[in-house]
Amino acid sequence: MPKSKKVNYRHCNFCGRSEADGATILPSPNEDAGICLDCIETAASMLGIVSAYSFEDEQDATIARARAAHGAHPSKGNKGHGNKSIPTPHEIKDFLDQYIIGQDQAKKYLSVAVYNHYKRLDQPEDKDGVEIEKSNIIMVGPTGTGKTLIARTIAKILDVPFTIVDATVLTQAGYVGEDIESLLTRLLQVADYDVKRAQRGIVFIDEIDKIARKGDNPSITRDVGGEGVQQGLLKLLEGSVVNVPPQGGRKHPEQPMIAVDTKDILFICGGAFEGIEQAIAHRLNSSFVGFSTDAATRRIERDNFMSHVAPQDLRTYGLIPEIIGRLPILTHLLPLDREALRRILVEPKNAIVRQYIKLFAMDGVELQFESEALDFIVDKAIEFKLGARGLRSIVETIMMNPMYDIPSTKEKKFVITKEFCATQLDAAHFDAAAV
Ligand code: ADP
Repeated sequence: MPKSKKVNYRHCNFCGRSEADGATILPSPNEDAGICLDCIETAASMLGIVSAYSFEDEQDATIARARAAHGAHPSKGNKGHGNKSIPTPHEIKDFLDQYIIGQDQAKKYLSVAVYNHYKRLDQPEDKDGVEIEKSNIIMVGPTGTGKTLIARTIAKILDVPFTIVDATVLTQAGYVGEDIESLLTRLLQVADYDVKRAQRGIVFIDEIDKIARKGDNPSITRDVGGEGVQQGLLKLLEGSVVNVPPQGGRKHPEQPMIAVDTKDILFICGGAFEGIEQAIAHRLNSSFVGFSTDAATRRIERDNFMSHVAPQDLRTYGLIPEIIGRLPILTHLLPLDREALRRILVEPKNAIVRQYIKLFAMDGVELQFESEALDFIVDKAIEFKLGARGLRSIVETIMMNPMYDIPSTKEKKFVITKEFCATQLDAAHFDAAAV
């Protein structure tokens, strides 16, 4: 929902028209001057410019207006894909390895999918009848195990527009919330409203499990956020031309729209699918009935159920079969064990411990974490069931006093011991509820 704000109309310094009169104003960077689109057009025609900005049809004008409102600069939208060489799946995975601990299958699948996405964009005009179709992806795994981190990290090496959106804000048309098409508004914005670029972009839809059908629960009479939203989403995943509200939110009849073709947009979905292990366990155990049950069942129990996730489990969970069919690449993330958490503290390129060492180094102070201190932090994260997200809040709490004091002292070295960690957490009354 758009936030209500005080209306402060801008005006054109050339012709004097104001936004209140319906003029669309392109403001100067510090917003103390502006020019309306009509005056830009007049100026362009005086100069004989045939620019990228031609207002021949309504779509162009809508885009120009949206760009002006978004503060985009015309030249910013023209970065095309294609000059950079395409990173190979191995290169993409190597890059991901620098930031994400474990989760090898997800990293590998994503690397291949992104690589294929590029290849599909570069495929020559169809001569042999073979058209490479896109393969959207779904990542299933507990919260805080790195789904968003993988998506964000991929965005760093990408040369196509990329955005992360949350499925929970979406509702079926007619209800409070955002229209499905608003998923693409962010993509248009990061592409500076260059529709062609946006149409080759990648969208990460987080919390896809939250729009699962609410099942047989009789207390739910209207499934506002469930199946209806999935049906809407299906249209986008399949590839069709949809009308996107330039500023997001809810569509309204008078608002001009921007038409976007989703055929070449790659969708990556992620969700925790809490409790899906039961569905997997149920399916696996029942399929083992009738032959050598003991050994097989024992093996499955030892393994993590998540690594056996299959499309039918998503269906049991409440995703409609059509959606599952449009997300042909299914991969999983595993819960993070003690060893993984310990590595996350120190190994990734921007690991939290490295960040603090850098912060202190900027004050000329050498910061050291003793090994037992790191173990202690991991133990606390496990004890409070906070996972990887908790590591940061624990370290932040421990580091608060030193960060406050050290810049005012002459200390050149500071060592974090296990005892120091314990006293800091106690003093801060740190507990899970405080996070
Ligand atoms: P989710 O799976 O819920 O999308 P996130 O990717 O948002 O989880 O993870 C939350 C935070 O935890 C990340 O920002 C990162 O700091 C840390 N984290 C989680 N998983 C990993 C991992 N596998 N490797 C490194 N850091 C991780």
